[in-house]
Amino acid sequence: MATSADLHRRRGAAVARGVSSTISSYVGTASGAVMTDVDGREWIDFSSGIAVTNVGNAAPKVVEAVRAQVERFTHTCFMIAPYESYVAVCEQLAALTPGDFEKRSALFNSGAEAVENAVKIARHATGRQAVVVFDHAYHGRTNLTLAMTAKVMPYKQGFGPFAGEIYRMPMSYPLRDGRGGADAATYAIGLIEKHVGAGNVAAVLIEPIQGEGGFVVPAPGFLPALAQWTKQAGALFIADEIQTGFCRTGAWFASEDEGVVPDLITTAKGIAGGLPLAAVTGRAEIMDAVHPGGLGGTYGGNPIACAAALATIETMRELDLAAAARRIAEIAMPRLQALAAKHPQIGEVRGRGAMLALELVVPGESGPNGPAPDPETTAAVAKAAHESGLLLLTCGTYGNVIRLLPPLVISDTELDRGLTLLERAFEPS
Ligand SMILES: *Cc1c(COP(=O)(O)O)cnc(C)c1O
Repeated sequence: MATSADLHRRRGAAVARGVSSTISSYVGTASGAVMTDVDGREWIDFSSGIAVTNVGNAAPKVVEAVRAQVERFTHTCFMIAPYESYVAVCEQLAALTPGDFEKRSALFNSGAEAVENAVKIARHATGRQAVVVFDHAYHGRTNLTLAMTAKVMPYKQGFGPFAGEIYRMPMSYPLRDGRGGADAATYAIGLIEKHVGAGNVAAVLIEPIQGEGGFVVPAPGFLPALAQWTKQAGALFIADEIQTGFCRTGAWFASEDEGVVPDLITTAKGIAGGLPLAAVTGRAEIMDAVHPGGLGGTYGGNPIACAAALATIETMRELDLAAAARRIAEIAMPRLQALAAKHPQIGEVRGRGAMLALELVVPGESGPNGPAPDPETTAAVAKAAHESGLLLLTCGTYGNVIRLLPPLVISDTELDRGLTLLERAFEPS
């Protein structure tokens, strides 16, 4: 087999530089929470391919379902010749997402495509155009979703002009805005009314816990107050649960934590155990406002991805992976808090379930609305973790957040090993 070094050389001459990778080792095989690279080195996976392999890499039921489907048929296009698994995935989404009302779903290929379609549906159903998004938001890399994503480097730099009628409001960010949830919501709502006008808002679209923007957990009360205002304004509340969904935060969806019931919800990442699938799910009357033929795409709800999604959901139910995510927090949180007590650069430990983060700051120095971010130490810790065989990601507007996204099936031994490697990564070498 080619070595990582060989592959890296070939890559340089063939793969566009704009597509970069966290590590320079190439994957040989992966199973559960362990990856083995082509050089024979084992890694503990704290990334899940960005919160995708919640059921673990190459989960047995997913592999079996994909194998069976690929032998039956590979593709017909649901818009041409429909098949059962697409319908079954939509039935599962209706049952699992918050809200005790009739729902409909449409399936797509990627998170960005789901967000784009949620905006299309919201505009069509309300006859309005403005879409409210938030500081530190991440919603994808297509042109519309880039307008909705907050961070310039690396996502937006040089790629404009971006789509119009997107309005960015301040996010509840307890470490940095010094406001309670209700207060932060009142502040954001005041700005929406002043700058956009309540009657022009088609949708307020938000990640219940922000992903790429830094695992920012809004203060309690922020999401319910926004949802309440949105309803009064005759607009739609859309939860982007692409990263938080499918048991990641200890419930099927993060909105459930405060009893928020979105009108529409976008899902992707964890939905199909690694196969590309995404969905928009929501109130039947809103979803069905769009005329026949108004939604779709060649590959959306591909039969192999749908088979994988059904097996993924079954695995989550059987193994109770929401409980597994809560258990990961119970084990990891005290270790992370003890680490923070030892290292003053850890300004905050936060997150929920198996979506946990450390925000790194320069002790005693102030920065944007709070402690000064420390992206250098963050990068050094990630690098040390990678050198020791722990696959770890960073995130955050200021590049100063270390995030933990282990597969929910990780064993206690693997979790302990990963946390030990993370603790060691903080020791000066
Ligand atoms: C990853 C992500 C997206 C974009 O999903 P892609 O599948 O990469 O297009 C959108 N929203 C959130 C919250 C995400 O984490």
